[in-house]
Amino acid sequence: MRIVVVGAGMAGVQTAVALRDQGHEGEVLLLGAEPHQPYDRPPLSKDVLLGKAEHSRFDIDFPGRGIELLLGRRATGLDPVRRVLGTDGGELEYDRLVLATGARPVALPGQSARRHLLRTHDDAVALKGALRPGARIVVVGAGWIGAEAATVARRLGCEVTVVEAAPVPLAGALPAEITEGMRGWYAEAGVELRTGAAVGGIVDGDVRLEGDPGATVLLTDGTELGADAVVVGIGARPDTGWLDGSGIVLDDRGAIAADDRLRTSAEGVLAVGDCASFPSARYRTRLMVHHWDNAVQGARVAAANALGGEQQYDPVPYFWSEQFGRMVQYAGHHRPGDTLLRRGDPEAADWSALWLRDGVPVALLTVDRPRDLVQGRRLLERRTPLDPVLAADPAVQLKAA
Ligand code: FAD
Repeated sequence: MRIVVVGAGMAGVQTAVALRDQGHEGEVLLLGAEPHQPYDRPPLSKDVLLGKAEHSRFDIDFPGRGIELLLGRRATGLDPVRRVLGTDGGELEYDRLVLATGARPVALPGQSARRHLLRTHDDAVALKGALRPGARIVVVGAGWIGAEAATVARRLGCEVTVVEAAPVPLAGALPAEITEGMRGWYAEAGVELRTGAAVGGIVDGDVRLEGDPGATVLLTDGTELGADAVVVGIGARPDTGWLDGSGIVLDDRGAIAADDRLRTSAEGVLAVGDCASFPSARYRTRLMVHHWDNAVQGARVAAANALGGEQQYDPVPYFWSEQFGRMVQYAGHHRPGDTLLRRGDPEAADWSALWLRDGVPVALLTVDRPRDLVQGRRLLERRTPLDPVLAADPAVQLKAA
């Protein structure tokens, strides 16, 4: 049986490896659009950008594991009836197909040689070259990627301004009552944070200086910010455009709408990682999770089910972010209306926050509190009811009521 995996990022690579770990003896073909050996993305905005590591390649012996890597090869279309994948290097037949094409960063309209995205190894190398001491760096977006890019740029001695359209950082992910306090992290690091400021465009050349080849970031309120480099971190969308016409059902965010076994609407085709969404029985909603742990956990389930298994995928989502010298970790899924409990003073060096629904914890955010994270994650997994008074006391260990 030939299993083709499309996309050689974390989800695709882990699926291919899991197929072998789970005993598949037939062909495994792993197709990746990028020319590079498969690599991990989180280090790109951390050690690779800082110059502590040159690359973040996976340490996997692909030939030794019987995984045929087809790099620099892009899937261009799919005919699930004939079970044929179209690629820029010709058609490939498959018995099972796993879609793991990840996400693409959202760009701002217009072109500028000084504009950088941060999704690929090549992006990180190009941006690193621009992060020289004293360079004026404008980061558009105070989300996870923007905060990490600002952290590294500052550590490398750049002058950093972060421009965010929302009134607070991380507005898309966390409530304002939590993120308001994070403004201080930017100030303390010497990063200027401009919130409520929308970017209208980026043009080459600094309109305020003669002969300077930089760029100008134009804010919609008329402000002009000179920049030697502009990092755009305003989100990512599932990379699924190539499936147009295939009949594979997408959700309203453009993610492949998988079922709770990570199967798509086409027979023999599964989807995993950033490109897919799945129904969560645990949280009673469809989740699209753009984080590393989902790519790793989901891959094992996708592999098992590609081999005929019936494993349900219903994780407690988890991610981490390293920003402004802090380890920020989040597990679970909260929504408006859940009860928010603070554990510790948000001005302190470490604290956490917990969301309860009907007395049961549904999500947890920790800042430099690894013990809360480990214990809280177990409570989320087990759906253990908590005494809210004890849970809000940071001196009391998180544990079952
Ligand atoms: P991807 O990693 O996007 O891989 C998909 C691959 O498919 C890509 O290599 C792409 O080139 C390829 N592809 C796309 N279309 C095609 C096609 N048509 N044909 C063939 N190949 C194709 N998460 C965390 O939890 N913590 C972090 O600290 C963190 N840091 C991050 C830092 C950065 C800079 C980035 C970009 C992401 C970070 N993430 C982090 C998110 C995490 O890396 C992603 O969730 C994870 O990489 C998703 O894996 P994936 O395999 O689904 O997608």
